[in-house]
Amino acid sequence: MLHELPVLSQPPLPDKEGAPVPASTVPDDFGLTHDATRSADAPLTDPFGRRHTYLRISLVERCNLRCRYCMPADGLAWTPSPQLLTDAELVRLARLFVGAGVTKIRLTGGEPLLRTTIEALADEIGALPGLHTLAITTNGLLLPKKIDGLQRAGVSLLNISLDTLRADRFAEITRRPGLPLVHRAIDEAIRRGYAPVKINCVVMRGVNDDELVDFVRWTEERPVAVRFIEFMPFDGNRWADDRLVPFGEMLQRIRAAVPLERLTEGPHETSRTFRVPGYRGTVGFIASMTEPFCEGCNRLRITADGNLKVCLFGNAEVSLRDAMRDGASDAALRALIGEAVGRKHARHAGMDALSAMENRPMITIGG
Ligand code: SAM
Ligand code: SF4
Repeated sequence: MLHELPVLSQPPLPDKEGAPVPASTVPDDFGLTHDATRSADAPLTDPFGRRHTYLRISLVERCNLRCRYCMPADGLAWTPSPQLLTDAELVRLARLFVGAGVTKIRLTGGEPLLRTTIEALADEIGALPGLHTLAITTNGLLLPKKIDGLQRAGVSLLNISLDTLRADRFAEITRRPGLPLVHRAIDEAIRRGYAPVKINCVVMRGVNDDELVDFVRWTEERPVAVRFIEFMPFDGNRWADDRLVPFGEMLQRIRAAVPLERLTEGPHETSRTFRVPGYRGTVGFIASMTEPFCEGCNRLRITADGNLKVCLFGNAEVSLRDAMRDGASDAALRALIGEAVGRKHARHAGMDALSAMENRPMITIGG
C-alpha cells in the first residue's frame, strides 16, 4: 500500500548542466515530499526531481516467441492495427519527447523487429537532434536480417534476450524453437562491433536458475554483458514469489563457484555489474523486485497503442494516440505528458502489492 511506503531520503538528482533540481518541499497525502515548483518548461521532471531522459517505445504487441514469463498461456486479444500508432505518430512523439529532454530511446515490443518499417523508423528517430542513443531490445530471431539497416540508422545499443543455453529448455520457456538463431544474432552483433552486446536473462526458480554459473562462464570469451533479471509479476504470467530468485541469492550461488569483482556503474544504471577477473564479458543483476531502483528512475514508456506509462509497475496510462487523433497541438501534448509525469509516484508499490495488482501483460507494455 502506498501510504505505508517510507519517505524518500534521496538527494535531488542533478539536472542536465549538473545543477541540483530544487529541493522537494510540499508533503503529499502519503507523506512524500513534492517539488511544488514544477515548470511547464520541464514537463519530464517529476515532483521528486527525477528527470526523465530515457523513453522506451513499443513498436508492436505481437511476437514470434511466446515466453511464459511475458505472455499469458491462453494468448491475448491483440489490439486491432488501426488502434496502434502509425509510423508518423511514433516519430511525432519521439520528436516531442526528444525536444523535451529525452536523450535515449529504446525500441522494444512485443518483438520490435516484426515491425516491417523498423529500419525506416530507426532512421528517422535516430536523426532527431538531441538524441544521443538509440537502442533496441529484441529476441534476436530476425536480427541477422535487419542488423545492417539498423546499424546504418544509428542503433548503437543492442539487448538480446536469452534465458537458457539449452535448446530443449529454450523451446519450453519460449514455446517455440530457435536457440541457434539467437546465438547467430549474438555472434553477428559482436562481429559488427556492438560491445558489449547486452543479454537479458530472466531467472526463474526451478526453470533456469541452475544455469547461473553456466551463463557466467559463457562470458569468458565473449564481449557480452549478461544481465540476470529478477522475475517480475505481470498479468497472466503465473508469477509466484517462490519462483523469484532474489539478487542476493543469485550472487551468493555464483560466488560459491567463481570469483566476482564489482564494477562501477553510471547513475541511472539499473544493473549491479560484476566480472570474473580475466573474463571478456560481465554479469549484472537487475533487482527490480528485491532492491528497486525507483529513486534513480529516468524512464518513461509508450505502448504500441499509444499510451504513456510513467512506471512499468503502475497501471496509470494516458492515451497520447487519442489526443493526437483528436487534433492536439504539440503544446497540448506536452502539457498532457507533463501532467502524467507529475502524477508519478516516488516508488513502486512493492512485490506483494504488484503481484495482486492489475497491469498489462509485459508483451503489451514493452520491457
Ligand atoms: N521481444 C523482445 C525481447 O524479448 O527482448 C523485446 C520485448 S521483451 C517484453 C523485453 C524484455 O522484457 C525482455 O528482455 C524480457 O526478458 C523482459 N521480460 C518480459 N517479461 C518479464 C518478466 N515477467 N520479468 C522480467 N523480465 C521480463
Ligand atoms: Fe516475445 Fe520478448 Fe515477450 Fe519473449 S519476452 S514473448 S520474445 S516480447
